[in-house]
Amino acid sequence: MEVKLISFTPNAERICAISAALTHSNASPDEIEKMDDKTLKNILLHVLERGHLSVVEHASFTFAISGVSRVLTHQLVRHRIASYSQQSQRFVRLEEVRYVTPPSISRDDNIRKRFEDFMRKAWKEYKALLDAGIPEEDARYVLPNAAKTNIIVTMNARSLLNFFELRCCLKAQWEIRKLANMMLKEVKKVAPTIFKNAGPPCKTRGICPEKDRDCPFYPGD
Ligand SMILES: Cc1cc2nc3c(=O)[nH]c(=O)nc-3n(C[C@H](O)[C@H](O)[C@H](O)COP(=O)(O)OP(=O)(O)OC[C@H]3O[C@@H](n4cnc5c(N)ncnc54)[C@H](O)[C@@H]3O)c2cc1C
Repeated sequence: MEVKLISFTPNAERICAISAALTHSNASPDEIEKMDDKTLKNILLHVLERGHLSVVEHASFTFAISGVSRVLTHQLVRHRIASYSQQSQRFVRLEEVRYVTPPSISRDDNIRKRFEDFMRKAWKEYKALLDAGIPEEDARYVLPNAAKTNIIVTMNARSLLNFFELRCCLKAQWEIRKLANMMLKEVKKVAPTIFKNAGPPCKTRGICPEKDRDCPFYPGD
């Protein structure tokens, strides 16, 4: 899996902080814009800690994600407050046998071999269908969920905070959890204040909506 933060709102934190300051002040936008970075950062933190998250909707982040499975992207696109562009299985002929192997399968030689045999068979059938004149959009029906794909996603910071709460949790499926953690690492580099407390609910709110008492991070009742 490769994750690149390819674009983001310039001065993202300053713009969100100005928006936060504007909501709590008599000062004009011009006066607020002249505030120094430290003052603005404190205002942003204050507002975020109180859950006024709409101010961070002004910052957007675009990621190029490659080498992930269709299992992952099916879960990812359930996050509706976002924009997506995904490699098409209609317009792109998937010549190469490219798939994701879950760790639970790769750690056992016999099971991994069965899995790999099945993947090769699936692609063999796919190519046979194409050779028989079946269009890509129909031949793809035999391809597995494990098939690798590439996707570009843009989310604003508020939607990302929600995404991290749901997908950085140990209860989330391993592949999307891995993606969420990689995305979080990237945005923390460019917007450390907005994402200071980002992560699963046990971290952000000290609660476990999953009520999973066996989780090593269970915050208690
Ligand atoms: C551990 C886990 C297990 C899951 N299991 C399943 C499953 O078994 N089956 C399944 O179908 N899905 C499952 N999901 C997907 C889940 O139900 C959500 O669809 C997905 O996580 C997107 O979350 P979201 O709606 O908060 O995000 P977004 O779609 O980005 O929405 C963000 C927020 O906007 C608001 N919002 C968005 N659209 C609406 C709307 N139409 N009406 C009102 N408010 C709205 C909500 O507050 C929402 O939280 C699972 C998710 C997780 C993390």
